[in-house]
Parts: sequence; structure tokens; C-alpha cells
Amino acid sequence: MSGKQAKDGLRLQTLAVRAAVARSQYGENSEALYLTSGYVQPSAEASARRFAGEEEGYTYGRSGNPTVSSMEQRLAALEGTEACMATSSGMSAIMLMCFSLLKAGDHVVFSQSMFGSTIKLIGSEFARFGVESTAVPQTDVAAWKAAIRPNTRLLFAETPTNPLTEVCDIAALADLAHNAGALLAVDNCFATPALQRPIDLGADIITHSGTKYLDGQGRVMAGALCASEKMVLEKFLPVQKNSGMILSPFNAWVVLKGLETLDLRMRAQSALAHELAVWLEQHPAVARVYYPGLASHPQYALSKKQMSAGGAVLSFEVKASNPEQARARAFHVLDTLQTLSLCTNLGDTKTLLTHPASTSHGKLSEAQRQAAGIAQGLIRVAVGLEHPQDVQDDLARGLNTLT
Ligand SMILES: *Cc1c(COP(=O)(O)O)cnc(C)c1O
Repeated sequence: MSGKQAKDGLRLQTLAVRAAVARSQYGENSEALYLTSGYVQPSAEASARRFAGEEEGYTYGRSGNPTVSSMEQRLAALEGTEACMATSSGMSAIMLMCFSLLKAGDHVVFSQSMFGSTIKLIGSEFARFGVESTAVPQTDVAAWKAAIRPNTRLLFAETPTNPLTEVCDIAALADLAHNAGALLAVDNCFATPALQRPIDLGADIITHSGTKYLDGQGRVMAGALCASEKMVLEKFLPVQKNSGMILSPFNAWVVLKGLETLDLRMRAQSALAHELAVWLEQHPAVARVYYPGLASHPQYALSKKQMSAGGAVLSFEVKASNPEQARARAFHVLDTLQTLSLCTNLGDTKTLLTHPASTSHGKLSEAQRQAAGIAQGLIRVAVGLEHPQDVQDDLARGLNTLT
């Protein structure tokens, strides 16, 4: 089910705690968790109208649930879109989008720096069904333009990217897409609507991994597509009803609660990430820091324009004279952590660190890895909500003892 923007004129912080489906007859102040797979119909006629799509009303758990609708309505309100459709994970949201909008012979242009599973899903899995695609450099608008063909239906970008925090120009890509009669989808997982609103910059679809900052406390898997009501009702809903990539009501309830504190968390975690990035940049054992909020970031000016803060993810490279030493040094930093977690996730209140070259980018050849800029000495930090000094102390333990 879609969720229309509930209350016009209210600001993001208010919508984050207020936008949801109507209260039940009990007048609960907090949104209820409806665990039911079926719905009793008021009459056979009403049931027929609901199944025909002529009347609003729930019919079966695969086609809608009030708790899930609340989450969809709240996220749509935050993203500024008319509607939203929740899915079981971030990847199922991308799957649903591609399945709903593409057919054999269509072409997609996407950034070569996108989330690894996104690249595999579109570049390999959908290729088996005759969908063509071209991967282009994230920040090179001319390359995006040159890749567009008469059969291009979709441009798909993600900004900032994982793990190098490359920022692409959403407004420029929206113009390119629309001039070509295509749609622009933006994966807004890293910035979230608290820091960046792609719809205001011309994007048509916003994809989310709710697993990350929307839940925000590392508890559940979730995903969502935000778009116009027409697109959600006419394109996504029919496919969703027949494919079942639905979000469980419990997970929707957790995300719904997470959205209430999204703005506070994103601002606090961005401030902590910024402070950590500045500290790392001056550390003698660190060769380079990647963070959109640093003046040294290649797209610093664009990120200032497009985002209201730098986000909570940064990456840094330890100094070394060759890849083997770099890997050993990065492993040393990770293995000497006592407080922070070595954990392949992000968007948690706990600070999580990963070694991209041996995890998310571990299956690439050394040449591909180098082309992607994923050095052996690279460490990604998804900054949480610990005290800044404790985060620095834990990293300093390894960084100060590199040999
Ligand atoms: C995690 C992630 C996804 C996939 O989301 P899941 O919930 O893990 O399926 C997609 N895009 C980005 C940018 C991500 O970080």
C-alpha cells in the first residue's frame, strides 16, 4: 500500500514523529503493531471493491498492513514524495524497482561505485533477462551523458558511495535522465532525508536500505522505494502484490520508531564523524581520509550544496610502502580495537569498522580493486554514538603502535 503525505506544511522533525496512519478505536498515542496475515471484510460487496482496487481497505498481508503503511507514510513525508512502498530489505527494494520498470531490451546507466549487490543485480542477474546496462564513473557527468542510448530507461546513482564517499551531482543527473526520457533513481541510504532530499533535486525514485540509518540501531532488515503515488500504485504495487518482497509488520514497527530519531542521530553521528575525520587527517600513521565534510574531499563544494552535513561514514588509508604492509597495518588497527566493532554493517548507534578490500570488495581481482580505489590499507568507519574521545582512543591504540 502507498502512504500519501499526511500533513502538508509540517517540518521534517514534526513529520518524523507525527506522520502515520490514523489511530485505531483505542486512541493509542504510539503507532500500533498489527500482527495479522488476514483482514475480516465488512461485506462481500466491500471485499469485491477492495479487491478491484475501487475502495481503500486491507485484504491480505501480502498486499498491505497498517503498521507497514504507517512506516511508508512517515518515510514518504520525510523524503517529500507522495508515496512509498516498503520492502523486506534494501536489495529487495532495488529488485522491485527494476522488476517494475524494466523489460528485455531496456538499458540502465549506473555508477560503477554503487553498492556491490546493486551492481551484480543489474549488471549480471537482470542481464540474463535481456536488460542492458553500462557502469560509469560516479562523478563524471559527461560519462553518464555519453552512456545514454535511445533505449535507456533508468539512471541509478548512489551518493555518497560506499566506502569512498564519492558524491555525484543529483540535479545534473536528473536533467540528463529527463532529457533522455528516462527516470533518475537515487539510493539515499548514506545521507537519508535528514541530510539530503533527492526529490528536491529532481530525482524520480529514492531507494532505501532501512537496515541502515532508518532503523538506526542495527536491529532489523528493511527497504523502501519512495516515488509519486502514480508510480507506486501503478508500477510497484502490482509487482509487489504478486512477488511478495514485503516488509514484516514487526520490522516496519522498528523502522517507524527509528524514523522518530533519524534527524537527531544523523546530525549527532555526522558531527562525530566530522570530528574523527579531522583527527585522522592529522594522524601521522594515516595517509588519506575520505569524508565529504572535509575541505580535502574532491566533491567538497558539491556536497556542501547538496547535503546539510557530511554523513556518518568515513574511510581512511593507513600509511604503508606496499600493499602487503598496508593490509597488515589495517588488520592491526582492526584487531587492537577493544570498544568498537569489526562488523560489516553501517547505520548503527555502535561504531562499526570494516576492511573493504577483504570483505565487500574481496571478490574483485587486484586490478579491479585498484581501479575502484579500494586499497589494502583502507578502513571504513561507520560512526555511531559513543563519546568522541572513546572512539579516538580505540583507534589510536592500533594507529599509534604501527610498525
Ligand atoms: C546496505 C545497502 C544496500 C542493501 O540493503 P540491504 O538492506 O542490506 O539489502 C543498498 N545500498 C546501500 C548503499 C547500502 O549500504
